[in-house]
Amino acid sequence: MNPLESQLDYPFGDTLPAAGCVLEVAPGVAWMRLPLPFALDHINLWLLREDGGWTVVDCGVALDASKDAWEAVLAGPLAGQPLQRVLATHCHPDHVGLADWLCQRFGARLWMTAGEYAFARMMSAGLPGVDGPSALPHFERHGLVEPDMLEKMRSRKNYYPSLVPSVPTDYVRLQDGQLVTAGDCRWQVITGFGHSPEHAALYCEQLNVLVSGDMVLPRISTNMSVFAVEPEANPLQQYLDSLERFASLPADVLVLPSHGRPFRGLHTRIRQLREHHAERLAEVLAACAGDWRSAAEIVPIMFRRPLDAHQLSFALGEALAHLHKLWRDGIVRRATGKDGIIRFIKTQEATGG
Ligand SMILES: [Zn+2]
Repeated sequence: MNPLESQLDYPFGDTLPAAGCVLEVAPGVAWMRLPLPFALDHINLWLLREDGGWTVVDCGVALDASKDAWEAVLAGPLAGQPLQRVLATHCHPDHVGLADWLCQRFGARLWMTAGEYAFARMMSAGLPGVDGPSALPHFERHGLVEPDMLEKMRSRKNYYPSLVPSVPTDYVRLQDGQLVTAGDCRWQVITGFGHSPEHAALYCEQLNVLVSGDMVLPRISTNMSVFAVEPEANPLQQYLDSLERFASLPADVLVLPSHGRPFRGLHTRIRQLREHHAERLAEVLAACAGDWRSAAEIVPIMFRRPLDAHQLSFALGEALAHLHKLWRDGIVRRATGKDGIIRFIKTQEATGG
């Protein structure tokens, strides 16, 4: 456990739901875990008890290991208790990959925000601008020029559709502030931005439980990236603004995150995340003092460890997210060089030199 994590309270300790099992974390709320084929090796799903069945929040990726894990739960603790609704917090593959498979199997509907649903459909269909190949020129513009790195990126060109081969062709729209009733409980939708287009977290006042999705995680910081489809985006600012929406929830709310363990200490975690990004911004700004820097040059400053292609794409997007906040705040300038590469420099140096 790192020192920051030790400031949080984990009411279930090291206990995890075993494969094929679920673990009750609050009355009518059950936790299950599915494997992921990444360095981040699991996702948490949350089951909300309904009259005669369940709503599931998030789904896992569409790979056999996830389906096998689902089959074990459906034949075991959920036998005879159908999924009545599939709710996805956002469009990332680990959250929505198996939504179509589950919805078809149970005749259930998918509930999602319009922003997330639209992006899931676009990316699953591999539309130009949000497909794998669109990422390459975007990364090249931001200084990723080493042939082996580009080759690694090229190998990811079918990344999203391979994990989300289909998405239901209709859905029920979630909106900020909406109350979703599941069994005896009402859950309020809290939308958030920066990590994904229109992320939905769920807060139940009766239970004092927050399903935080990827917006607030206990151990790792949420990724935010600038993508090819929105090349001037400012996702870090959006994310920091969104954290405000969670800061007004009770300090002792039980947080159910998509990765890691359930915890208490939401306000502490929000403060840690703010401090983390302030430190990162200071590092990035220092690197841009006196010299023009591309996002690719910032990556090894922010991430001092070897990165695989999957991690590198996140790292580059994250470096760019920090650069763009500084750019939008007027603290760095952004310019395209004769070589076509976009670079950034601290403003005083740019005007002074
Ligand atoms: Zn995500």
